[in-house]
Amino acid sequence: MLGADGNAGKAGSGGSSEGDRRNLLDVKGLKKHFPIHGGLLGRTRGYVKAVDGIDLFIRKGETLGLVGESGCGKSTAGRTIIRLYEPTGGDIVFDDPDLGPIHLERATSKELSHVWMHMQMIFQDPFSSLDPRMSVGRIVAEPLVVRRVVKGSELNDRVATILTRVGLRPEHMSRYPHAFSGGQRQRIGIARALAVSPNLIICDEPVSALDVSVQAQVLNLLEDLQDEFNLTYLFIAHDLSVVEHISDRVAVMYVGYVVEVAPTEELFRNPKMPYTEALIGAIPPPNPRLRSRPLKLPGEVPSPANPPSGCYFHPRCQYAQDICKVERPPLREVSPGHYAACHFAETLSLRGVPALVGAAPAVSPVPVASAAAGTS
Ligand code: SF4
Repeated sequence: MLGADGNAGKAGSGGSSEGDRRNLLDVKGLKKHFPIHGGLLGRTRGYVKAVDGIDLFIRKGETLGLVGESGCGKSTAGRTIIRLYEPTGGDIVFDDPDLGPIHLERATSKELSHVWMHMQMIFQDPFSSLDPRMSVGRIVAEPLVVRRVVKGSELNDRVATILTRVGLRPEHMSRYPHAFSGGQRQRIGIARALAVSPNLIICDEPVSALDVSVQAQVLNLLEDLQDEFNLTYLFIAHDLSVVEHISDRVAVMYVGYVVEVAPTEELFRNPKMPYTEALIGAIPPPNPRLRSRPLKLPGEVPSPANPPSGCYFHPRCQYAQDICKVERPPLREVSPGHYAACHFAETLSLRGVPALVGAAPAVSPVPVASAAAGTS
């Protein structure tokens, strides 16, 4: 698979192409805290730190998988990056093809309106993300009309072309979302995101609401579209096998914080953070006769409203030492292109699995929630 500039994509993404592609998106210290109101006067009593200082970057033409348990803040991170949510802190720099690098966290509404031409989102739920009162033609045409990209008869032609490209038919323009299956609805959502020819698409769990067979079709469609239109994806998911299949690199989130980032194959073979080890250790082996020995994590995921001191993972970590209870480890580069937030990333000998990069997609989804619970 080739990226935007012709660099090798998924296979062999262990670092050979590191650094020779420009970053399309650079996120530093991003925070999104939601106030907790209580009492008669509705005073602010605390904050849910849904995103609590994440760092990540995405190169042009690549797919960065963002994986984590439900409630870890991955969807909030995606929505904050695209400015559906106002960030509490941090920098979001997008390399706009027309305006150049632009700080989204302080962009004006006019600048944001322009940036959204180049940055789109595909939402998780294909049933609630489409307006049931609008025909498919209007849904896909809306961003083109709002941004005055095309008008008149050209508009219909453009919508018909996009629908055809995502596997639907031009006559579907006059129908309404209720007439379509979940997979077809997600194709409509993809068509809508694709309408304004974006560079970056934030895919927020785009296949998690779909049947497994349909997941594979939609994933393959996303990959084909990436090749054809030089797209860059931030692919948010809780399903390790999906992330493994589609991503060039993977970022793991835990309680609002990115704890490990690495090229996909490197992350699965050679994890440097104990939480990642537990997640990938719970992936069922491809051969059902082989017995897996999932690492069971004790305790529960902490609340982002009241996270533990030091390393957020320390109450559940079998390798925790005294420093882990008081000092939060920063995300740092422990080998070329491999970042981990663990005080002992260089010295721990953690167990990985051979990556299945390039294998058939999503035949055995592994929700992170069950992986973390040590079930498979
Ligand atoms: Fe475990 Fe300590 Fe590393 Fe956190 S910093 S993952 S508690 S060893």
